[in-house]
Amino acid sequence: RASTLDGYAPICLGLEDFYIRRLYLRIQDCFGRPISSAPDAWFDVVERYSNDNNKTLKRTTKTSKCLNLGSYNYLGFAAADEYCTPRAIESLKKFAASTCSTRVDGGTTMLHTDLEECVARFVGKPAAVVFGMGYVTNSAILPILMGKGGLIISDSLNHNSIVNGARGSGATIRVFQHNTPSHLETVLREQIAEGQPRTHRPWKKIMVIVEGIYSMEGELCKLPEIVSICKKYKAYVYLDEAHSIGAVGKSGRGVCELLGVDTADVDVMMGTFTKSFGSCGGYIAGSKELVQYLKYTCPAHLYGTAISPPGAQQIISSIKVILGEDGSNRGAQKLARIRENSNFFRSELQKMGFEVLGDNDSPVMPIMLYNPAKIPAFSRECLRQKVAVVTVAFPATPLLLARARICISAAHTKEDLVKALEVISGVGDLVGIKYFPAEPNKQ
Ligand code: PMP
Repeated sequence: RASTLDGYAPICLGLEDFYIRRLYLRIQDCFGRPISSAPDAWFDVVERYSNDNNKTLKRTTKTSKCLNLGSYNYLGFAAADEYCTPRAIESLKKFAASTCSTRVDGGTTMLHTDLEECVARFVGKPAAVVFGMGYVTNSAILPILMGKGGLIISDSLNHNSIVNGARGSGATIRVFQHNTPSHLETVLREQIAEGQPRTHRPWKKIMVIVEGIYSMEGELCKLPEIVSICKKYKAYVYLDEAHSIGAVGKSGRGVCELLGVDTADVDVMMGTFTKSFGSCGGYIAGSKELVQYLKYTCPAHLYGTAISPPGAQQIISSIKVILGEDGSNRGAQKLARIRENSNFFRSELQKMGFEVLGDNDSPVMPIMLYNPAKIPAFSRECLRQKVAVVTVAFPATPLLLARARICISAAHTKEDLVKALEVISGVGDLVGIKYFPAEPNKQ
């Protein structure tokens, strides 16, 4: 029974795509009697979505406009965009909001085939297949790729959609210490001998699953080391780029581009469209044979309704902007901006004395609060000062590793970031979460 400011325990759901998603549950005593009389549960509701410094939230009857440091709108495409939005509206007029059909039963429009070509080209693989939801992409694909007799070796902090997909596959699951290649090698060595041919070992298939940027840690995957270990032990590599595709790399092509890994060495490239592309859905990119196989066997493709046409058009248009194929250099500017913004914000927070997780270039930056009881004070005080920050606690993190998770966007201006830093610094003093000495002149 947590004791918090107003007698309510904040529970972070670990669902990540609403701007504010705290659910307040009434605390009960050990006999199930409510301790306080406030309403049982409520969510904040986003009333309007525009850009990252103009977000209006409606909470019951109170409406407030605040700076959003919580959404995954990494390149600002979720806001009205001069190139993407008119095209999405056109596709809505032409194809409607939904095909109301599965891909194989008349739900494949020209946009769907264009999208798959566009995604394959963008991520650097021969083919791609798209799904209506990122979560489902992992949870429905892993059971198709892996099964009984297979071995999945998963990073300990992989996303819940991967965990569910892996569990549902029936394969044996082993977990390696988060982003630690040496431990991955130890786990592999326990299962097979180095250089043993695939046909002579106890597993039908071995797949190592990692993420490009870890969404609760802000860390870049140690992909070059992981790929070379997988080559040595002949294990397949499955890379979830939900947070890295579009957000990092010289031309936005994700961690392979950023870290100099050949995409041919990553067997299955997965990603979502809900972050950098400002849309919905997910993809798997790989060899033509792999994609063909998935299209014929994956129930989410065969029985699930196709991604919405305006959603598909939004992704195609945003990729065109990123690649400069809209005839402007806005894409390159956005990529430069998100990198500059992220590195500026991270280093300023560190100078102020906060403990910030993650790596340079990553737009995800968790500020450690540790004690979950600090969550309501931190997030409400930031919100009161019109800065909206997502806080994360158990079960999305270990119990005493609560954090505020900031997501930086190319849509943030320098003034936005300076204002946010001022507010967060003040609230950090109030709540007592500056664990390191501040650098002079940064208070
Ligand atoms: N993979 C990762 C690593 C994620 O963080 C998320 C959600 N943020 C998903 C998959 C699921 O994607 P979506 O929200 O687009 O369904």
